[in-house]
Amino acid sequence: MILASLVLAAAAATATSAQAGDTGPRANARRLEQRIHALGRFGANPAGGVSRVAFSDADIAGREYITRLMRDAGLEVRIDAAGNIIGRRAGTDPALPLLMTGSHIDSVPQGGNYDGDVGVLGAIEVAELLREHGIATRHPFEFVVFTDEEGGVVGSQAMAGRVGPGTLDVVSHSGLTIRDGIRTVGGDPSRLAEARRVPGTIAGFVELHIEQGAILDEADIDIGVVEGIVGIRWWDVTVEGTANHAGTTPMNRRRDALLAASELALAVNRLASTMPGTQVATVGRIRAEPGAPNVIPGRVEMSLEIRDLAAEKMESVFRAVETEAKRIAGARGTPITFSEIDVALAPAPTDERLRKVIEAAATSLGLSHRRLPSGAGHDAQNMAHVAPMAMIFVPSQDGISHAPQEYTAPADIANGVDVLLRTLLAIDRGLPGP
Ligand SMILES: [Zn+2]
Repeated sequence: MILASLVLAAAAATATSAQAGDTGPRANARRLEQRIHALGRFGANPAGGVSRVAFSDADIAGREYITRLMRDAGLEVRIDAAGNIIGRRAGTDPALPLLMTGSHIDSVPQGGNYDGDVGVLGAIEVAELLREHGIATRHPFEFVVFTDEEGGVVGSQAMAGRVGPGTLDVVSHSGLTIRDGIRTVGGDPSRLAEARRVPGTIAGFVELHIEQGAILDEADIDIGVVEGIVGIRWWDVTVEGTANHAGTTPMNRRRDALLAASELALAVNRLASTMPGTQVATVGRIRAEPGAPNVIPGRVEMSLEIRDLAAEKMESVFRAVETEAKRIAGARGTPITFSEIDVALAPAPTDERLRKVIEAAATSLGLSHRRLPSGAGHDAQNMAHVAPMAMIFVPSQDGISHAPQEYTAPADIANGVDVLLRTLLAIDRGLPGP
């Protein structure tokens, strides 16, 4: 028996580098499932999901639960100035920068039990596995719950030193301003700069998350290796026509702003669909003035959103839309103007070395994987400004997210944790140069 366990231990020690037949620590799917349910009790709604918006009583209770789990997993827990919960585990070489993983537990109103929660409970599962298997790492580890992800990725913005002017005064879904919310969860908004991480102090940030789309589920693939988080640009679009009597103005003497706007909305969809690439573009809001059944619309205000992994691609889609808008404006006599809104998010590509580490980890576990972009925003995109960043996706059943029907099977979550653990351990052993 002793000999047998020695052989097993030796196999475990070499398995991750052997690329096959990995016999290293495996996530406890049952423990993960129990904790998903336990966390889901805070802010549970009748539809089976949660409404646990940041800074609400449910969020505070959920944070207390997570803090307890972190302490029980042997982590040293603190709250930073932005209200982020940070559980720390020492490394053997105090001179090394830290490795970080985590996500969020706040939800949208009427949200589900997996968005964010999987990354937080998955991170804690990694801490549990490191402890249970007596694995010492060279780098210190930090396991993080970011503050108010759904309300504007505030906690990670603070870590990246990128909290915009006015952000603290924004009233969150809880009814509190973000400033008061941060205070409520134990942070100190007047000392936000202290939450900031200096580039070089984090050797790698890896976030485990549900896909929130259907690519993995439909193709029956275990692991998504995220290529990056798409950038987002928004414009206010104004179409100027002439409001006039809808009964007495003949059809050939109209400057109908809504017709021009409709043509433009169709053009946006056509251009984004037919240009090569995975860009998306959307007109999500439209308002005609004066907005009466018997008046030809004299003015339309509408929105334009463009997302892509590449800034140049977003720009070229916009240029194409603009050219089409000029043509429509000329043909209908309705000037169209674009005014960009200052909420633009730059694309955040993941670190190619880390993508490869994730792929190798998945392969060693016999898990299928593919690369894909993230169309949704994540804390990881802020962390990319201060650390090599990567994201691991696990399948979302039917691609449903931000809804009570959100679901990821425990076995899929466990797969994600197994890949996360091996990814972090591989970074701990040392990445090749950039
Ligand atoms: Zn999320």
